[in-house]
Amino acid sequence: MSLRAGFLGLGAIGAPMAAHLARRGPLVVWNRTGERATEFSTRHRCRAARTPRDLAAESEVVITCLPTSQDVERLLDGPDGLLGGLEPGGLFLDCTSGDPATSRRIASRLAERGVTFADAPVSGGTNGAEAGTLTVMIGGHPDTVARAREVLSAFSSRIEHMGPVGTGHAMKAVNNALLAINILAAGEGLAALVKAGVPARTAVAVLNLSSGRSFVSEALVPERVLNGSWPRTFRLALLDKDVRIARDLLGDAGVAGPLVDLAGTLLGRARAALGEDADYMEAIRLVEQEAGVEIRG
Ligand code: NDP
Repeated sequence: MSLRAGFLGLGAIGAPMAAHLARRGPLVVWNRTGERATEFSTRHRCRAARTPRDLAAESEVVITCLPTSQDVERLLDGPDGLLGGLEPGGLFLDCTSGDPATSRRIASRLAERGVTFADAPVSGGTNGAEAGTLTVMIGGHPDTVARAREVLSAFSSRIEHMGPVGTGHAMKAVNNALLAINILAAGEGLAALVKAGVPARTAVAVLNLSSGRSFVSEALVPERVLNGSWPRTFRLALLDKDVRIARDLLGDAGVAGPLVDLAGTLLGRARAALGEDADYMEAIRLVEQEAGVEIRG
């Protein structure tokens, strides 16, 4: 890789993304919980920076993957903040599933320092991150996008330019709102079918041969619900955050969004009931509990 890279946020998806970057060239990492960064740097033979500022000072491209855009913005400031270390000419790629308005503000603050920004959220899940086959939906100036491609291709097989800064986050929020609606709807429909006496596996098989199928029914339900495995790969709290971003996006665009609104309300309830560490597919567990049925088979 021709640019020296710095990566902040070694969480469920950030860590496997950063691991690909470590294989491509020199990498420096930072994580809020320092032990995670130390462990990662030992395993992947790269450096762990003491502060975000130190990381920025060593990097030509800074990549963030944090829960929210607000978390990213907060890392800019203070004596140890990124702004203290960033040099003019630098590139800042935010792979957080964030929100367009905060990203536009971050972009203009960075532009004052001569640093270019793009929002570059990803889809494909932790499996896609491990395999290096994520899809990146990027928002930014075409020159920034062209510069970003080499770095992003370390962990992605498709990089799609959506438009100006903020449009990557808008795309991601709408995608995840549709994912949430599909999860909730699949849970409700399958719970009702099982209660009506249809074996769960048969219901899923027929759905997947019919027009009501989705990624949820084809991949997620067979892998996680039918066998009751509920692995924790993507926190329900993060999907709830994505649906809130989509709600704001629809509101700002003057689009009535009753389905997205309702999905947000239901996910908010699920988050309150199941906690911050629950996986997103556990929203179906709550549907099961409330219906008094298990979708297994
Ligand atoms: P995790 O909760 O697993 O990890 C979050 C990371 O951010 C951790 O490294 C955590 O540090 C760090 N962090 C949390 N809060 C702060 C803060 N205030 N300041 C600095 N660092 C902070 O999240 P994921 O890795 O799953 O998700 C990251 C982003 O990627 C999210 O926006 C998510 O929506 C998106 N995403 C996730 C996918 C997935 O499958 N998991 C799929 C596609 C997108 P610490 O170790 O200290 O907790």
